[in-house]
Amino acid sequence: MPVFSLDPAQAAWCAQLRTLAAEKLRPLAEKAEPGRVNRPLVAALGELGLLERLFGTAGSPAPARAAAGAGAGAGAGAGPGAGARAFELCLLRESLAYGCTEAETALALQGLGSYPIVQAGTAAQRERWLPEVTAGRAVAAFALSEPDAGSDAAALALKAVPDQGGWRLSGEKRWISNAPEADFYTVFARTTEGAGARGVTAFLVPADRPGLAGTALEMLSPHPIGALTFTDVPVTRDDVLGDEDRGFRVAMNTLNLFRPSVGAFAVGMAQAALDAALDHTARRTAFGGPLKDLQSVAHQVAEMATRTEAARLLVYAAAAAYDEGTDDVPKRSAMAKLLATETAQFVVDAAVQLHGARALQRGHLLEHLYREVRAPRIYEGASEVQRTIIAKELYAKNPDAKNLDAKDPLAKGLPAHELHADGPYAEGTKEPYA
Ligand SMILES: Cc1cc2nc3c(=O)[nH]c(=O)nc-3n(C[C@H](O)[C@H](O)[C@H](O)COP(=O)(O)OP(=O)(O)OC[C@H]3O[C@@H](n4cnc5c(N)ncnc54)[C@H](O)[C@@H]3O)c2cc1C
Repeated sequence: MPVFSLDPAQAAWCAQLRTLAAEKLRPLAEKAEPGRVNRPLVAALGELGLLERLFGTAGSPAPARAAAGAGAGAGAGAGPGAGARAFELCLLRESLAYGCTEAETALALQGLGSYPIVQAGTAAQRERWLPEVTAGRAVAAFALSEPDAGSDAAALALKAVPDQGGWRLSGEKRWISNAPEADFYTVFARTTEGAGARGVTAFLVPADRPGLAGTALEMLSPHPIGALTFTDVPVTRDDVLGDEDRGFRVAMNTLNLFRPSVGAFAVGMAQAALDAALDHTARRTAFGGPLKDLQSVAHQVAEMATRTEAARLLVYAAAAAYDEGTDDVPKRSAMAKLLATETAQFVVDAAVQLHGARALQRGHLLEHLYREVRAPRIYEGASEVQRTIIAKELYAKNPDAKNLDAKDPLAKGLPAHELHADGPYAEGTKEPYA
C-alpha cells in the first residue's frame, strides 16, 4: 500500500494540478458570482480532462466495470472500490483545493451527483448523462438531505407515490449543492413507508421535470447550494437508479467513496494556509526581527505542519483501503474525514492568527479559506457522526467490549438490536448515514 509518499509520476501530476488551479481555474472562479454554479469553470474542468479522472480513468476500466454491474441489482453489486479510484480522487481534490477551492468543489459535486449513475445506472442513463458530466456540459447534484433529515438521512420523507406504473415525487430537499441550477438531480425518495433505510429509492430526475422548483441559499462559504421543492414530479421506472427500495445503499456507496476525499479537500486547504503562514512569518518583522524567530511562532508552524501531514497520511491510507476493498473502510474513512476536517479548521485559524489583521481583509486567501473550511465538518457526516462510526466499528471488532453491554445495568433486558439501533448506521445495513 504505497501511501506514505507519492511516486514521482503522482507528485508531478499533483504539481501540474496545482499550477492549473492557480493559473487557469482561479481566474475563472474570481469572475463568478459567489454561491452560484460557475458553468465556465465546470466547462474548463471538462476541457482540461479533469472530470474524466473523477472515477479513475488512468488505466482503470472503471466505467466498464460499473456498466457490467448496472441493471438489476447493480446497486448491491457496486461495493467499495467498484467503478472508482478513491486515491486518485483524493490527489485531484487535494491539489485543486490548494490552488482554487471553487474548482475543487465544482469537480467534487460533479462526482457526488453522478456517481449514483456510475455505480447503479442503466446503460441508457449512463449514455445520456455521463459524457455530458465529464465534458462539463451538464451540472450534477446529489439530493439526499431534507429539512428534517440530515445526519439521520434514513428518516427522509420526500414521498414517491405510485402513479400509472411510475411515481409522483412530493416534498422538499434542502442544503443541496448545485441546486437549483443543476441539470439533473439524483434524488432519494421514500417508496415504502415505515421501512427506514430499506424503503428508499434513488431516482435520476432531470431539472426540467414539471413540478420541480428551487431557490438558492446564501451561505458563509462561496459554495453553490439551494433548496428544491417537488410538487407531484413524475418519474418512471426508467428513472430509477439501481433497485426499488434499495436506494439508500446507492447513497451510502457514493458517500463511502467521497468521505476520504472530503478529507483531501481539507488537507489541500490546510497546506495552502500553512504555506501562507510560512511565507508571511519569514518576511514580517516585529520587535527587531522576523516573526519566525519568535519561538511561539515557530512552534505553532511546526504544529500546523505536523498535524497537516498526519491528516494527509490518514486520508491516503483510507483511500488506499477503499481501492483495495478492505473490510475496515468505514472506520478508516471516518477517521480520515474527522481528522482532516478538524485539522484544517485548526490550521486555517492558526494561519489567520499568525497573519494578524490582514488575513481578515475581504479577498485575502485566509479570509477565503476561513469561510471555506467550516462546512466540511458538517456535511457528508458531521464530526460527531464520524466519531460514532469509529466507535461502533471498534466495538464491533472487539467481542469483549460487545459483552460490556450485557453487563451494563442500564442496558439490562434490552434486546441487542435496541441497544445498537440508534446512531449513524442505516437500519440493519451497517452503512454509515450521510
Ligand atoms: C455546504 C454544504 C453542502 C451540502 N451539500 C449537500 C448535498 O449536496 N446533498 C445533500 O443531500 N446534503 C448536503 N448538505 C447537507 C448535509 O449533508 C447536512 O447538513 C448534514 O448531513 C448534517 O445534517 P443537518 O445539517 O440537518 O444537521 P443535524 O443532522 O441536525 O445535526 C446537527 C448536529 O447535531 C449533532 N449530531 C447529529 N447527529 C449526531 C450523532 N449521531 N451523534 C452525535 N451528534 C450528532 C452534530 O453536532 C451535528 O452537526 C450540505 C451541507 C452543507 C453545509
